[in-house]
Amino acid sequence: MQSRVALVTGGTGGIGTSIIERLAAMGHRVATNYRDEARATAWQKSMRDRGIEVHLARADVADPKQCEAMVRDIEQKVGQVDIVVNNAGITRDTTFHRMTSEQWNEVINTNLGSVFNVTRPVIEGMRDRKWGRIIQIASINGQKGQYGQANYAASKAGMHGFTISLAQENAKFGITVNTVSPGYIATDMVMAVPEEVRGKIIQQIPTGRLGKPEEIAYAVSFFIPDEASWITGANLSANGGQYMGW
Ligand code: NDP
Repeated sequence: MQSRVALVTGGTGGIGTSIIERLAAMGHRVATNYRDEARATAWQKSMRDRGIEVHLARADVADPKQCEAMVRDIEQKVGQVDIVVNNAGITRDTTFHRMTSEQWNEVINTNLGSVFNVTRPVIEGMRDRKWGRIIQIASINGQKGQYGQANYAASKAGMHGFTISLAQENAKFGITVNTVSPGYIATDMVMAVPEEVRGKIIQQIPTGRLGKPEEIAYAVSFFIPDEASWITGANLSANGGQYMGW
């Protein structure tokens, strides 16, 4: 497979790190954003120790100007971005009747706003080069809803509307646009949930366990090769059988 440049947002997190490992193993050059320089540099060193070179570019994904600058930096120092994985995301959970506009806006701007902010600066280059892969990391809770997550579920469901529209607009340009919807994965985001609640979640998963970040990375990698060029506008659920709808 041709070596390409991949930008994975939130690459320093649990799922992002696995996606970067997988894409690097496929022979692609990889880049991610960071906000905290000291933490990101330590993470970059741990990746380098394992033989993976990751380019770091500073950006808050909720900020369009910072994302534009990040993409130009990657283009200059690594190369034209052919693969984007919109993975950065946060939760600010509370029931809607208690939710503040800050909690709503922070989640929508980070999880959904980022999809515009990061994809917009790369899409014209992909169209010119007639090749691209754009993959959103959504969530099972964007498919089925979740008590206490109106903001998060709305942001993740919004990714599907984005995916299927962008897929239509760019199919003739060799660009595929797809979504991976993970179920509950054993990363900091889920391990921060109280143990008792986590136990109840696991009871609802037919496989009887949380997912592993590398299982989401595998789902992402499925969309990338040339052999996957017929697959666009799709959603791939990777959730241990917890939700089998769209
Ligand atoms: P982590 O919390 O481990 O990682 C999140 C990553 O996103 C971090 O690198 C974080 O960087 C980055 N990030 C968050 N906000 C911003 C921002 N404003 N600007 C730049 N970077 C930002 O989460 P996971 O790895 O668990 O989750 C990855 C994705 O998968 C998310 O979109 C999440 O919603 C989704 N998902 C996760 C599930 C799970 O069970 N874990 C289930 C379903 C979906 P920083 O260190 O600077 O905060």
